[in-house]
Amino acid sequence: MSYSHHWVSGQSVPWALSKIVCVGRNYAEHAKELNNPIPSEPLLFIKPSTCAAELEQAIQLPAVDEAVHYETELALLIGERVCKAQPQQCASAIAGIGLALDLTLRQRQSELKAKGHPWELAKAFDGACPLSRWLPGEQIGDLQALTLSLSINGQLRQSGDTGHMLTPCLSLVSAISQHFTLLPGDVVITGTPAGVGQLAAGDKLELSLNNGQLQIATEVIGG
Ligand code: ZN
Repeated sequence: MSYSHHWVSGQSVPWALSKIVCVGRNYAEHAKELNNPIPSEPLLFIKPSTCAAELEQAIQLPAVDEAVHYETELALLIGERVCKAQPQQCASAIAGIGLALDLTLRQRQSELKAKGHPWELAKAFDGACPLSRWLPGEQIGDLQALTLSLSINGQLRQSGDTGHMLTPCLSLVSAISQHFTLLPGDVVITGTPAGVGQLAAGDKLELSLNNGQLQIATEVIGG
């Protein structure tokens, strides 16, 4: 379902979304489950704004005959321009936190990786990044002491603790800003904990951030 506004505490904010910057392998247990080495610096990629969709609406699978995997991630809403910033300068730029699903055509990604090709065909399709509404920045405590979880059809599939990130949020935003200027309205997604797997039409998803401070129930519909 198309994504037209960022909603922070029930208010629509005026910033456009120009890009979603993503990090691969930011939790060691997830790198291990896909047999990937742990990178020495953040492994960054970008999803264009056309990936954004409203998580609270149904999750529309792409019309392809390939498995679509979920990755549940803490998302950061950027509220000011960030360019070549130090980590301690980045805290004020985080206007909200929420949840994202980094949808991935896993088999295709494996093939692209094996050839040394870019990942966009596996990760940048329309609707590939459902985003939740946002909890406002003022309500955010320690970004590295948050829990996130995903249950599918009543079964817990992913349960993460942001304290386990290899590159913590402010260092990640700083690292991104050395390469790509972040603009108000941009989103950073911070990597997935272990437990990734396939989505199927009809799945009922429940996502939770910070022990239920943000709770989302949604479902998957076929492409
Ligand atoms: Zn991801």
